[in-house]
Amino acid sequence: MQDYDLIVIGSGPAGRRAAVQAAKLKKSVLVVEKGRRVGGVCVHTGTIPSKTLRETVLNLSGWRERGFYGRAHRNKDSISADDLKRRLSITLDHEVEVLEHQFSRNNVTTISGAGRFLDPHTVEVTTDLGVRHTFRSERFVLAVGTVPYRPEHIPFDGESILDADDILELKRLPRSLAVIGGSVIGMEYATIFSALDVKVTVIDPSDTIFPFLDRELVDEFIHELRDRGITLRFQTKAKRVSKKGPDACLIELEDGRQIWSEMVLFAAGRKGAIDGLGLENAGLVADERGRIAVDKATFRTSVPHIFAAGDIIGFPSLASTSMEQGRIAACGAFDVDAQAPPEFFPYGIYSVPELSTIGMTEEQARTRRIPYECGIARFRETARGQIMGLNAGFLKMIFALETRRLLGVHIVGEGATELIHIGQAVLNLGGTLDYFVENTFNYPTLAEAYKIAALDAWNRMPRKQPTSDVWETAHEALLKFAAGAKAG
Ligand SMILES: Cc1cc2nc3c(=O)[nH]c(=O)nc-3n(C[C@H](O)[C@H](O)[C@H](O)COP(=O)(O)OP(=O)(O)OC[C@H]3O[C@@H](n4cnc5c(N)ncnc54)[C@H](O)[C@@H]3O)c2cc1C
Repeated sequence: MQDYDLIVIGSGPAGRRAAVQAAKLKKSVLVVEKGRRVGGVCVHTGTIPSKTLRETVLNLSGWRERGFYGRAHRNKDSISADDLKRRLSITLDHEVEVLEHQFSRNNVTTISGAGRFLDPHTVEVTTDLGVRHTFRSERFVLAVGTVPYRPEHIPFDGESILDADDILELKRLPRSLAVIGGSVIGMEYATIFSALDVKVTVIDPSDTIFPFLDRELVDEFIHELRDRGITLRFQTKAKRVSKKGPDACLIELEDGRQIWSEMVLFAAGRKGAIDGLGLENAGLVADERGRIAVDKATFRTSVPHIFAAGDIIGFPSLASTSMEQGRIAACGAFDVDAQAPPEFFPYGIYSVPELSTIGMTEEQARTRRIPYECGIARFRETARGQIMGLNAGFLKMIFALETRRLLGVHIVGEGATELIHIGQAVLNLGGTLDYFVENTFNYPTLAEAYKIAALDAWNRMPRKQPTSDVWETAHEALLKFAAGAKAG
């Protein structure tokens, strides 16, 4: 039996960062990964493949030029499933190579096989060929991530009735697609396929989508989806799904309506990948969705020498935040102080159009009774937006009336997930409306929307500067809000 200073189970963003951080502390590290290659859901079935698919679709379909040349414009007339997959494998190979190199450079040992606790300090790893190895450690980071939730009543067949993993293995493109679940993943795929002119229907039991986003942003998003023919069926559930022929699936809804489509994507949730992990042997328990509870500051589980990070601990379930959690968990495992991440982190949704958000929504400011003012800039108001042929999309900022401080930024449209970082910097540095009004922005850029939105708010803001006590109180309220948001 071999001993390591730290054993990390899972090689996604959380496991990767935990392993490299521990290696940088000069510790011996073993990463156990049951997938064929390192990288996790992030590299193989989640973030990277879905974003590569999106980029390929936008390029091949000529989506970005349609504002000028009309809805019928295409860069490639007939797009096949193979066209979409070609770019995927190139990107994935590159990402895996980068990661393997990072592990070898840092002397991180990896083993391919499924890890299972035998006791709180021992892990058994079973390889694909059924060979078993056992390893011991005084410290563990669990970073096993999630798998798609597959309810019994959905007859998944990997060809017509798919989950979010299957969709990357498509053999042909459907003419119509029904997406069950208006989740982030569901909406990303729904809008990507709609950009290929696939007829898309989304079914979700709630009365809207993305309840955590600013309402105005969601309203604009929904308007755009409906405008381009995506059907949204809210407040109902799929009662039964059946295959009626090679190109026909029937979804019977609880409200009695029926939806016919060539393919069905089930994207209503994920669950922790805890099957076979032997959590009980380590003294750990998971909740009903397979999530493991941790202390949100240190990522320590109820078993003090076992830490957990990434999607397995639940919200916010992002690659970006998982990496930070992995780093902090590894530092905690060796009693090294880890610098906590800044108060606010951005949330990006790579639908078509993109959405991105940071800080307070208008609804949250109202609930907290913070007097505020909003400024909005539509991308078509910017010279860059005109050059790019953008007809839609906007940037909205929320400022505290008393302190002029930036409270939140919400963007829908081209480049939203990149543009958000300007707002992130100003928000985390405690900046105010005046930053945007007083500074010069490159011209012509979409970033100029920040200045236009700030001027829009400025027109309605009081002219006087805040006194320091008003500032302190508002600052504390904002920190409290950020701490609450992080805890989910
Ligand atoms: C379709 C999709 C799109 C996404 N898009 C984005 C996005 O645009 N931006 C973003 O920030 N996030 C996105 N995410 C979320 C992001 O992928 C996850 O937050 C991130 O991958 C979580 O990282 P992780 O380290 O927790 O685990 P994962 O990346 O899930 O990796 C866990 C690894 O653990 C391994 N494992 C599991 N059990 C065992 C075991 N018993 N033994 C050994 N190994 C095991 C698995 O094989 C896997 O490789 C997306 C997710 C999906 C599904």
